[in-house]
Amino acid sequence: MVEINLDHIYKRYPDAKDYAVTDFDLHIKDGEFIVFVGPSGCGKSTTLRMIAGLEDITKGDFKMDGKVMNKVAPKDRDIAMVFQNYALYPHMTVFDNMAFGLNIRKNDKADTKKRVDKAAEILGLTDYLDRKPAALSGGQRQRVALGRAIVREANLFLLDEPLSNLDAKLRVQMRTEIAQLHQRLGRNFIYVTHDQVEAMTMADRIVIMNAGKIQQVGTPFELYNKP
Ligand code: ADP
Ligand code: ADP
Repeated sequence: MVEINLDHIYKRYPDAKDYAVTDFDLHIKDGEFIVFVGPSGCGKSTTLRMIAGLEDITKGDFKMDGKVMNKVAPKDRDIAMVFQNYALYPHMTVFDNMAFGLNIRKNDKADTKKRVDKAAEILGLTDYLDRKPAALSGGQRQRVALGRAIVREANLFLLDEPLSNLDAKLRVQMRTEIAQLHQRLGRNFIYVTHDQVEAMTMADRIVIMNAGKIQQVGTPFELYNKP
């Protein structure tokens, strides 16, 4: 399993005069479900993208099991990411969408099939593997996006507002599904949302951000049930 350290991370985008993220410092314990919550523009996504390697870290270190990851290419990180807009390829089947991250890494075909079949079973997508995304419901598309991450068998899952495109009822259902998935996989999850209810119901620990900084860190109980 894996220890994750975010050591005094700063981010300034090229040409920006202010820092988007300032002194983000967090140690994540093995298997934790961490939620970053805060208003739009507070730096949640930027922090997640630095962890994924999609943005450079301006200052500070991101470490997994003590190893500094700052310069490791995204595809060589033991990390799988689920995007807000799902990022599914419309011309590919569900199977090929789920296999995509393994195919670009030249994973063995038989092993890929095994992993996709297993993820499809977990997510209830077995009967949909030959369909294109357009022929799926919103919830099913979200499950395909989760499946694409699961097949990587990564130690760290990053989820960037994965439920924001779903209607309220489905959002509640998928919340539960994602929490169960976390239990089942036993890996580290970092989940970004602006929805406090989502944070409270899903997180082991919540990181409340504001204006690029960590404002508070604690369990839902510590943060919201204190007198
Ligand atoms: P959140 O995910 O909490 O909504 P973001 O991380 O997207 O916040 O944004 C944090 C800050 O960084 C905002 O001020 C935003 O305008 C800025 N920002 C985000 N992406 C870029 C970018 N690619 N270039 C310049 N500034 C950006
Ligand atoms: P990984 O889990 O390593 O990110 P993905 O299958 O999610 O693997 O995607 C691999 C790369 O392709 C990533 O850099 C991702 O941003 C990009 N990507 C994924 N889906 C799309 C898409 N629909 N359009 C453009 N780029 C995409």
